[in-house]
Formats: sequence, C-alpha cells, structure tokens
Amino acid sequence: MEYQIALVPGDGIGPEVVAEAVKVLKRVGEVYGHTFRFETVLAGGAAIDATGECLPTETLAKCKTADAVLLGAVGGPKWDELPGEKRPEKALLGLRKGLGLYANLRPAMIFPELSEASPLKPSVLGGGLDILIVRELTGGIYFGKHETFRNADGQTSARDVEEYSEKEILRIGRTAFSMAEKRDHHVTSVDKANVLDTSRLWRKTMTALAEEYPDVTLDHMYVDNASMQLIRDPKHFDVIVTSNMFGDILSDEASQITGSIGMLPSASLADGNFGMYEPVHGSAPDIAGKNLANPIATILSVAMLLRYTLNLSKEADRVEAAVKEFLHEGYRTADIAGGNTEALGTVETGDKITALIR
Ligand code: NAD
Repeated sequence: MEYQIALVPGDGIGPEVVAEAVKVLKRVGEVYGHTFRFETVLAGGAAIDATGECLPTETLAKCKTADAVLLGAVGGPKWDELPGEKRPEKALLGLRKGLGLYANLRPAMIFPELSEASPLKPSVLGGGLDILIVRELTGGIYFGKHETFRNADGQTSARDVEEYSEKEILRIGRTAFSMAEKRDHHVTSVDKANVLDTSRLWRKTMTALAEEYPDVTLDHMYVDNASMQLIRDPKHFDVIVTSNMFGDILSDEASQITGSIGMLPSASLADGNFGMYEPVHGSAPDIAGKNLANPIATILSVAMLLRYTLNLSKEADRVEAAVKEFLHEGYRTADIAGGNTEALGTVETGDKITALIR
C-alpha cells in the first residue's frame, strides 16, 4: 500500500526528531512492503520567518489531503515577543481546529528499564505503567464564550462558559471505549458531577454508552480524586476519558510521573482514521541543533500513526518492540541516561532503533 504523510517539522529540535521518525517509517516500509510518500510543510516559527504567518493556508490544505500528519514542535525564544495571535504556538490551535481533531490521546508509559526516572516509588509503580488519557480537544470551556465585563456593582468581572452536547460526549466516549477494547478493558470517566451540570450530562452519557461495550468496565471519578489517585495508585487506570480542561491538567500530571518527557508520544484524531501525531514535548531550544534530543517520543508517535490511522498494528507493535529492545540493551539518550551510561545522540538513537526493525 501507498500512504501520504504530511511532515510538519516546525522549530528547535522538531526537525531533528522528525528526521529520525521518518527513518523509522521508511524502514517499516522496506520490511513490510509499504510505500510512504512524505511532503514537508511549514508551521510555527519557521513558517513565520518564511511567509509571515504561523500556519500558511498551503500547510493546512496539504495536511488535509494527507493520510496523516507528523509534527515535531513549534515555538522558541526568537518569536517570544510576538503578540499572542501571531505566535508560533497558535499554529497548533489552527491545525486542531482546521483538521477537526477532537480526540487527544496521550499514553503515559513507564518502561520498566526507566522506572528510576519516575518520581514515584517502585512499590507504587510495580515495575511499569501504561495509562492512556483520552482528552476531548475541541469543546468545553476552552472553546466556550470568554468575556470580561463590568457587573452591576461597577466591578470588573469575567466569565468563561463550559458547554458540552451529548453528541460531543458520545463521540469522545466511543473513542475511549474502543481504545479500552484493545487494551485492558477498563475506562475511568473523570468529571466533577458533584458540582457541574456539564459533568452530570457527561456522566449520564458515558453510563448509557457503556451498555454498547459490555466487555469494558466503566467507573467514574471526580477530577480532584483522579489527580490524587494518579500519584497514589496509578495502576488503577487503563483508559481515562475526560473533558478538555480536566484532560489538559491530568495529562501533564501523568506525563510528569513517567519522569521523561522525551519518551511520550501523542495522537490527535478526527472522524474516520485521520490523525495528527506529535511528541508531547516542545521545541527544546536549550538543546536544539546539538544532536542531544531524544527522538523516541516522535518514534513512538509514528507507532501510534501506524496503529490508529493506517490500521497497521503489526508494524506499530514492531516499532514499539524496537524501542523496548533499544532500552533493554542498555542504550540511553542524555535525558534518560541518569549520568550512569554514555549517552547516544539523536541521530545514533534513530539509527539503532531503525536497525532493530527487521
Ligand atoms: P520543552 O518541552 O521544549 O522543554 C522542556 C525541557 O525538556 C527542556 O529542558 C528540554 O531540553 C527538555 N526536552 C524536551 N524535549 C526533549 C527531548 N526530546 N529530548 C531531551 N530533552 C527534551 O518545553 P519548554 O521549554 O517549556 O518550551 C520550549 C518551546 O516549545 C516554547 O516556545 C513552547 O511554547 C514550545 N512548545 C511547543 C509545543 C508543541 O509544539 N507541541 C509543546 C510545548 C511547548
């Protein structure tokens, strides 16, 4: 089969880590008989420098016609003084909205070989961790009406409106339940149903939806409790499904308990199989251009691309197995070396993992 992949390398370490992930995809193509066609497009600071805009129309158009998008990271100190609307990071919101990416999937994984990197005790982690956070990405309070106004007492007030429809909740719920069917068959729906109407609708809708997935267990948790349980008993979780704002906060908390931002991939999915895949980390200007960036988060994003957009689960498993083998053989990049091991550079890491795909 032939697949069209739009590449958005972006800024800082973005182009470095995307180059290694492309190597891996090409290797998957050779081993399994697929052709990947790549088209590189501009976004973020690189696009501002070249065109004056952080998300040129051509970039969005080319992403729309591709089977999937692979993004590095955008932003950096060079563009920090620009006003909010013109900043490189605005390209991410434009891509999410323009491509209809409503489901954000963030696995929080700890490979047993790296469990020392986690701030949690080994007794809490029990040898590893594998949680998938499914966050609603295009609704809720971030997309509701925002206003600052003068109230009846002459005081300045502000409000932000949270709104969810049943349709939006069902859509993200279906994503979470179908992910759980391929994992440990357990969904935890996180809300604040003791206070918020949107959360009560969320809970009622998730409970009704669960009947369509008899092999998946659903439980509900208030967001304040979920934030505690992620640290106290992370093994409780398989798939977490939650709203835009709660997901924003919980996914960052979960990424920190894994201890290594350079290892975490993500996917943002639209209706059908289309998706945009990117590492969780940013453009890391402090290490850009030094061959120091860990490309594994982007390589694992490629595994998600193979699994969720192209339905190539055997190939996805193979990429993940190559990363595990790389770690198991004792190789490390600087961010996960812990001072004990001689670290490999970005390119050498990409080469080793590529060679392990046989
Ligand atoms: P960051 O994730 O870029 O870096 C945080 C720290 O983690 C840095 O010390 C960095 O060196 C390290 N790090 C990050 N990725 C790494 C990797 N692959 N290997 C080794 N070390 C890695 O976050 P930041 O410093 O807050 O932001 C830098 C820029 O990136 C900002 O302009 C920010 O707006 C942007 N950003 C972009 C995205 C995105 O494009 N999705 C996400 C977050 C931040």
